[in-house]
Amino acid sequence: MTSAGQPIHADILIHDAMVLTMDEERRFFENGSVAVSGDEILEVGPSEELKGKYRASRTIDGRNKILMPGLVNVHTHAPMTIYRGAADDLPLKEWLYDHIFPLEAVFTSKIENLKAGMRLAIAEMLLSGTTMFKDMYYFTDELASVVAETGMRATLSEGVFDNPTPSNAGGDKTLDYIDGAIQNWQHHPLVRQGVAAHAAYTVSPGLIVKAKELARRHDTMLSIHLSENQWEVDTIREMYGATPVKHLENLGVLDRQTLAVHCVILSDEDINSLAGSNTGVAHSPQCNMKLANGAAPVPELLKRGVHVGVGTDGVASNNDLDMFDEIRSMSLLHKLTSNSTTVISAKEAVEMATITGAKAIGYDDRIGSLEEGKKADMILINLGKPHSKPLYNVYSSLVYSLRGSDVEMVIVNGEVLVEQRQLQRMDLSAVYEDIERIAHEISAFQRRKQAR
Ligand SMILES: [Zn+2]
Repeated sequence: MTSAGQPIHADILIHDAMVLTMDEERRFFENGSVAVSGDEILEVGPSEELKGKYRASRTIDGRNKILMPGLVNVHTHAPMTIYRGAADDLPLKEWLYDHIFPLEAVFTSKIENLKAGMRLAIAEMLLSGTTMFKDMYYFTDELASVVAETGMRATLSEGVFDNPTPSNAGGDKTLDYIDGAIQNWQHHPLVRQGVAAHAAYTVSPGLIVKAKELARRHDTMLSIHLSENQWEVDTIREMYGATPVKHLENLGVLDRQTLAVHCVILSDEDINSLAGSNTGVAHSPQCNMKLANGAAPVPELLKRGVHVGVGTDGVASNNDLDMFDEIRSMSLLHKLTSNSTTVISAKEAVEMATITGAKAIGYDDRIGSLEEGKKADMILINLGKPHSKPLYNVYSSLVYSLRGSDVEMVIVNGEVLVEQRQLQRMDLSAVYEDIERIAHEISAFQRRKQAR
């Protein structure tokens, strides 16, 4: 109530839910409510207070449901959904050079394929509770329109290589393209552009520095695959006489506006460099396992204060975009490899998928927790299934037993994008039709290639 006793208007009031805020104190309301006005959260608190205080255009009953921040996928290659399952169980180099690169040479250069792949990825992410993703791929200026149409939040980062890519001539030409893309999208409420240097073995030192300068000029992030496996570490040491992390530190590109993706093989000194420079880290445990690259020293990175977010990576190496699946794998992987049941607790895993992930990509002023003034990006999880009962500890349930398919409602920027597990803005049957056609072409290409 206001002082005059009049209720305050809200657009949406979700009430009587278990509200997991992920705010600084990690407040949890057994019976909580969240009031939303426009794209922002007005207030989070106990239902008994908020129900009397607000009159909402729309009220949503949250009983027997968890309301929490939308999940943040800090690293993926969304349009690669068109290659899901096209090449698996192969040695890394054979997988990349004999399968993925030849497929990309033919199919990634066609923008319509990528648009379909992007739509499929967004549908999959929304339906499993992700409300923000940071992408690294091609044609980001054009694909941003596709993302904007869906109502999803994202940063798209065009990949820079020394060599030409499916979308650009490479080098400075790609940087010019990114410069334009950043300016085209800098005022959009949901979709932004970043800069991506693919990796230190595909991008020369001079170009990495230029890519970082471009990112700095526009106050955006540079993403780079870094220290993904032993082969990369050996290669960079041979080329530049340093570890991949040290190499980037020598180039002066490590800071809080850089996102280092993978960081599987790290020396103690590397960890110091990442921590000392406030560089964000994207951890993709399922990809690291599937490509047999190893387990990143995530417990140690967290201990040293590094912001480590979780990314599914592209589905060619995962093969899905379900963040629930990813954090469960993560938690189990680190327990196994460190021979300790206490590392990556369920609470830490949820933090990494929400507020810590938002910190890693510089979005924590807007998203990652349910707090007054933050953007209304949130998910409502149904607890009405056998595998979700009983619930003793909300973090344990989220990490060890709940699934992406338990997400019932998704709100991004104050707009309901998923309701009763139905996408509100997207026509899924049209997306499937496009994907089936592309998959048919890819299968025919693979058969021809095999016959040669
Ligand atoms: Zn990647």
